Amino acid sequence: MQLKAPRGTYDILPPESSKWQYIEGILKETAETFGYREIRTPIFEHTELFERGVGTSTDIVTKEMYTFKDKSLRSLTLRPENTASCARALIEHSIYSGIMPAKWYYIGPMFRYDRPQTGRYRQFHQFGVEAFGSNSPYLDAEVIILLIEVLKRLGLKEYELHINSVGCTQCRDVYRQKLIEHITPVKDRLCPDCQTRYQQNPLRVLDCKEKSCHQAIVNYPTLFQHLCSDCASHYDMVKEALKANSIDYRHDDNLVRGLDYYTNTAFEIHIPGIGAQSAVGGGGRYNGLVEDCGGPDLPGIGFAMGIERLLLAVNTLAAKGLDSGKSDVFITTMSDQYELQALELLTRLRQKNIRAEKDYMGRSGRAQMKYADKLGARMVIIIGDDEIQQGYFTLRDMQSKEQVQIDKKEIVESVKDRLAKFRGGNG
Ligand code: AMP
Repeated sequence: MQLKAPRGTYDILPPESSKWQYIEGILKETAETFGYREIRTPIFEHTELFERGVGTSTDIVTKEMYTFKDKSLRSLTLRPENTASCARALIEHSIYSGIMPAKWYYIGPMFRYDRPQTGRYRQFHQFGVEAFGSNSPYLDAEVIILLIEVLKRLGLKEYELHINSVGCTQCRDVYRQKLIEHITPVKDRLCPDCQTRYQQNPLRVLDCKEKSCHQAIVNYPTLFQHLCSDCASHYDMVKEALKANSIDYRHDDNLVRGLDYYTNTAFEIHIPGIGAQSAVGGGGRYNGLVEDCGGPDLPGIGFAMGIERLLLAVNTLAAKGLDSGKSDVFITTMSDQYELQALELLTRLRQKNIRAEKDYMGRSGRAQMKYADKLGARMVIIIGDDEIQQGYFTLRDMQSKEQVQIDKKEIVESVKDRLAKFRGGNG
């Protein structure tokens, strides 16, 4: 049997990996500009973290986790998301007793057992930010502005920002009761999952993937109508801040997000035209999460975006000449006996950060020139009998086809100067 990557996973090969590096570069730079620093948490955590942090009535915890027992029979789970891990790290390292807010970003793989389709994988990658320690609505706005700035820097103009407020635990308790009362008479028309979970968590019915559930509960009371005055004014201030920053949004009553830990502001970014899975990112405030994970009562806000879905949206990258795999200079040897000299020169060039390559397939001189062209080399250094006997190298400009002889001792500096000129000129 030929071995293949597991269903829902895939390899990122060059030149595709250049696009990933490009996107990741923009994500990191944007987050750093906004004052967020990188956090790297383990790929697996104790299962209990996600049960407590994400919530036992969520699809993620009930159906989608990759959970296994290790050799000591401890239950571990490949992280399905990273907010709970960040809360765990905040508590474990008592970050909350330092300077607040703690502002972090992360990029890395997440794992969910779901049916794969375009834009949905079992191992996928998220970029996310988390800000702990402040309940300011302007921090909610900052996080959303960061998300929009990322899209702008990636050249994405067609997006829709949906926002809602899911209230605090007090206003949500009142609302939950109203919603249960609305759902109970039609409960038989719900999908089997919702039939079992609507009593425990009726909000899950609102973001259920089954159409029949939405049809069954039409005209349901909205959370928005039940916000307490503090939550309503928090939401108003977020909207005001977005307006002040010229960020268009749509209030969306249906937006409750799939995880239990959200409070107040919830938001999602959709990009039409990338298929059924149009949500590129989403997040919100999670003021109860740190406490749920065993820490102090500390507010937080964040979002996560799927890098695969960003890539689906950013389809113009190839045209921008992003393939970073191009060589600066290629060394051609006219005979096998000059291989060592070539290798030694290669090392000296690379030590100066020059992307240098040579042949390892025993190609003829002519075939080496063709190969150099394929690698996109700007220059070729030729090492032949004349060169070795007279102590120079021939340097060929692959665009102008001009050839010059350069003293052996000056070759590295000469290549460096020429590259600087190319880059300073037409790149
Ligand atoms: P969520 O926390 O579920 O809203 O996920 C945040 C973002 O991660 C989504 O908007 C997607 O862009 C991405 N995402 C979530 N699940 C998957 C998946 N199975 N495959 C690819 N991307 C995903």
